[in-house]
Amino acid sequence: MAMKFDFISRAKFFFQKRVSPINKVKFDLKSMRYGYRKLKHAEATTTLLKDGNGLKKLEPIDMHKKQHIHVYLNIQCGMDCYFCQNAFYVDKLPRYDKKTAVEWAGWLNKMYNFHHIDFNGGEALLHNDFVPLMNMLNHHNITVFTNMPKSKIEGLKEIKKKGNNITLSVSYHPLEEKRDINEFVDDFNRIPKWLNPTVHLINIPEVSYKNIRAAFVMRGVFIEALDAIIPTEFNRTDGPYKTVMCRSDMDCISPEMNAYRCTGLMLKKIGNTPIERYEFNNDHKKCNYYGLCGPCTSQRDILPVPK
Ligand code: SF4
Ligand code: SF4
Repeated sequence: MAMKFDFISRAKFFFQKRVSPINKVKFDLKSMRYGYRKLKHAEATTTLLKDGNGLKKLEPIDMHKKQHIHVYLNIQCGMDCYFCQNAFYVDKLPRYDKKTAVEWAGWLNKMYNFHHIDFNGGEALLHNDFVPLMNMLNHHNITVFTNMPKSKIEGLKEIKKKGNNITLSVSYHPLEEKRDINEFVDDFNRIPKWLNPTVHLINIPEVSYKNIRAAFVMRGVFIEALDAIIPTEFNRTDGPYKTVMCRSDMDCISPEMNAYRCTGLMLKKIGNTPIERYEFNNDHKKCNYYGLCGPCTSQRDILPVPK
């Protein structure tokens, strides 16, 4: 691949380093226009889903100004990071039944009064219905965290340009990535522009962010650093746990479409609640499992239990 480090690349890098990746700015501007999803969008479709008693009509779900909701279409992932919380929390992951695009879109399109959906994993793109789901979602701000599996890049062209405000946040794992940088950048450049792709390095102590960033910049791609979330002494799988009041902003929905307060609880299947009965809000709630927190939620918004 010819290396591009011309004036335009330098100017783009200068801007992105000081402001924000250009695609992120585009996503953020559109998300300001979209704002918190409105009730009228949740009411725009009638959704009937099968349950034990026949067909059930889904009602709008008020998310009470939650900034975001984490969605795990699956826990399956093509990588094997040594710091992965999925591997850290459970010796053997619980079995999750995957749901279809129709089921996911049915529920997610009924949610309103929240700002955006984060698709986490695992690897969202490995879910067979990922593209149909994107095309069934309506008027959402969406961030997809992905490792950009090679076999799934071509299919991204099938995602409709209009309907949602999407950004693809592509991770570069310096130790686990099988592609060399040239191949990675070529694949990254194949992602359709309307998906506002950005790339970030998973920053771990073993590698030099500066050198990797320089290698990407030489190829005309700006890369940010995101610190790896490495389990600490606060993340235990075996207790003892403390009882606290927690305002986790990690409410998540598991692959089988149950809601949980954080990924630590989801991976242990503790406190699973059907979506329609889950209280989405920003209140502190009692939790008996402080210590089982996902690394990104530990020590965040924790208060003692009132006497
Ligand atoms: S890419 Fe993410 S989900 Fe996959 S193994 Fe690494 S940390 Fe875990
Ligand atoms: S205290 Fe920890 S385990 Fe409990 S809900 Fe909060 S983040 Fe999750």
